[in-house]
Amino acid sequence: MVNTPTHTILALAALSKKGDRKRNLAVLLGSLIPDLAIFLWAPYQSIVNGVSGAAMWQELYFQAPMQNLIAWFNSIPIYVALGVLGFAGRSKTWGKLLLFFSLAALIHMATDMPVHADDAYRHLWPLTDWRFFSPLSYWDVDHHSRWVSSFEALLAFGCIAMLWQRFEMRWSRIMLSLLSLFYLLILFAPLIQRLVVPLFID
Ligand SMILES: [Zn+2]
Repeated sequence: MVNTPTHTILALAALSKKGDRKRNLAVLLGSLIPDLAIFLWAPYQSIVNGVSGAAMWQELYFQAPMQNLIAWFNSIPIYVALGVLGFAGRSKTWGKLLLFFSLAALIHMATDMPVHADDAYRHLWPLTDWRFFSPLSYWDVDHHSRWVSSFEALLAFGCIAMLWQRFEMRWSRIMLSLLSLFYLLILFAPLIQRLVVPLFID
């Protein structure tokens, strides 16, 4: 997971190219696909099955069906295989797009692995069920999430600056501005919390 936009702007900063729409779209999709399982699963559980948020994230999420779905979408071997296939066919459009799609997904894996502690994924599935339990977490304060979030926001600002220079269309600049606001909030959330929350508590 991580904040999904971080995966996307990182992948776009590394792999996108001015004017190459198809390639940029492949990078965008590849950066999003690993989190897609979660995005589809969560609304399905709450809207269709009426599961509460707590039951969803503390129980169902850790049970076999969901863990297997996540394993499929976050498997390094699968994306490497797709990437090799794309590389072999890189002289054709489908090959090039598959290659960039897989590379973007692999960047997602590379940025997920260091920041998943108790909720580590089986990134090498189906070869092995091994999980890397990182000492760092992107959300868990007990695993230094404050520092991870600050680093994430700074990394994001770097990527946003690169993309700002690369893409001059108005809509992309609007998107990048909104993203900057989002990361400013992440960066200053602890401070805002400390200043604002006491105003409402006696
Ligand atoms: Zn992810």
